[in-house]
Amino acid sequence: MAFHYYCRHCRQKIGDLDVDIDRRQLGLEQLSEQDEQEMIEYDKRGNVYIRSICEECEQALAKFPDYHEQDTFIQ
Ligand SMILES: [Zn+2]
Repeated sequence: MAFHYYCRHCRQKIGDLDVDIDRRQLGLEQLSEQDEQEMIEYDKRGNVYIRSICEECEQALAKFPDYHEQDTFIQ
């Protein structure tokens, strides 16, 4: 199973994880159904896309918390 992490703000790829583990081991089971739908996408080939945040955007958000209200602020 391949997990692809990317930044939800700038769409930058954060990393890939190609492992044979269960979703429960990733802690994804702890998410509410709504969180899961917002954060995780699946495709038919077994890829899992996880929306996260990259270091750059995390730092930007720390400096400019107002951007928190916008889903995408760098294009
Ligand atoms: Zn980013």
